Amino acid sequence: MTTNRTFTMIKPDAVAAGHTGAILKMIEEAGFRIVAMKKTLLTPERAGQFYAVHAERPFYKDLCAYMSSGAIIAAILEKDNAVADFRKLIGATDPAKAEEGTIRKLYAKSIEANAVHGSDSDENAAIEGSFYFSHTEQF
Ligand code: ATP
Ligand code: MG
Repeated sequence: MTTNRTFTMIKPDAVAAGHTGAILKMIEEAGFRIVAMKKTLLTPERAGQFYAVHAERPFYKDLCAYMSSGAIIAAILEKDNAVADFRKLIGATDPAKAEEGTIRKLYAKSIEANAVHGSDSDENAAIEGSFYFSHTEQF
């Protein structure tokens, strides 16, 4: 089922560098409506649950440490074709390969500290959104 929703996190590097406002501005100017949003801190265990799909990857341990190293902003976003359009707005995982004008090209520090997360499917957007928000927190 297409829900026209996606889920994002502004990651610890971008929050710590003071890019939260600039990134949210880009997201809203691209036509996304903020359905739910919070600033929070992941424990390494919670980060591990969120990225469990990558448990066998060589970068998993570092990724969990990085994602729990500082505050993040979690948000559910709404727009037609949300998942694909948001992946386009953030750019490639590796900022060196991200297109000009994308969030990662502008704000990511490295392939790991890459400023933002974006869901890769409608199904995962729903799972990831409910990882952070109950239905009653969504407007
Ligand atoms: P995200 O799921 O965070 O939106 P993505 O879908 O572009 O990113 P994934 O392959 O799902 O990329 O990887 C999840 C995250 O793991 C990346 O965003 C990055 O922080 C980290 N990561 C991915 N590949 C590497 C790598 N080769 N070395 C270090 N960290 C990596
Ligand atoms: Mg991914």
